[in-house]
Amino acid sequence: MLIGYHVSAAGGLHRAIAEAETIGCNAIQIFVGSPQVWQTSVVDPSEIKKYQDALAKSKVEKVLVHSAYLPNPASHKDTLRRMSLKKMKEEIRTAHAIKADGYNFHCGSNQNSNAEGVRLTTETLNRLAELSDEKYPISLIIENDAGAGHRIGDTIEELAQIWQGIKNKKRFGFCLDTCHLFVSGIDLRTKKDIDALVSKFDKLIGLKHLKFIHINDAIFELGSKKDRHELIGRGHIGAAGFKALLHHPKLRQLPFIMETPYGGDSKGAIPARIKELKYVKTLAQ
Ligand SMILES: [Zn+2]
Ligand SMILES: [Zn+2]
Repeated sequence: MLIGYHVSAAGGLHRAIAEAETIGCNAIQIFVGSPQVWQTSVVDPSEIKKYQDALAKSKVEKVLVHSAYLPNPASHKDTLRRMSLKKMKEEIRTAHAIKADGYNFHCGSNQNSNAEGVRLTTETLNRLAELSDEKYPISLIIENDAGAGHRIGDTIEELAQIWQGIKNKKRFGFCLDTCHLFVSGIDLRTKKDIDALVSKFDKLIGLKHLKFIHINDAIFELGSKKDRHELIGRGHIGAAGFKALLHHPKLRQLPFIMETPYGGDSKGAIPARIKELKYVKTLAQ
């Protein structure tokens, strides 16, 4: 199975591969720049070469690039949507240059209404696909949200509405995050819950469009809308839910990527992840 982490590319993209190898991941997620700033630094060709050499020698088979935190495709503000498009396009260029398997992002939020948020997200994403289509045809992966405040794309119904408006469907796919699903009100604690989620997604969007899964346990309870990730099996979703998810025959071939907190102090962080990954692989057995 393909299981791994969001790993750190601090100090160079090749560092992410080194961390993945130390932990034992065969699927990873990275940022291609600082996630907190609008400015995008162009990644140096020599850094890309180092990364690709490291990747070729590693066991990593899937690499997902996660967008910076700032873009907001759903925003009611024109300027913010324009800045988001620019930033996302720049990140897509880098994601394409490193031959990543997808570029993952959230829909953002809209202060006016969900309907407007859905409409503007769809518009922004269609524009993004147009802007990057010929030169950088990487898969654009829409992630579900935890649904706090005016956030867009937390329910499968809302994701389906966005999907219906997407013109170039072969360019897009989805990533479901378990913590976000759970705190937005979708129970995942039993096999029955997982089956219900899979059938709902298949009915409203189509399972073949589901490309990645973020596996994170949740610090807060079902429907709380509070997006705080917990170590697998230690939160409100719990081991049984993850076991059912990892064993679902229609999901097993997908890459499962954890964005769980680093456990322990800075020295203990990597050993804690090695341990957690082993635990998740046991659940998947
Ligand atoms: Zn996520
Ligand atoms: Zn989250």
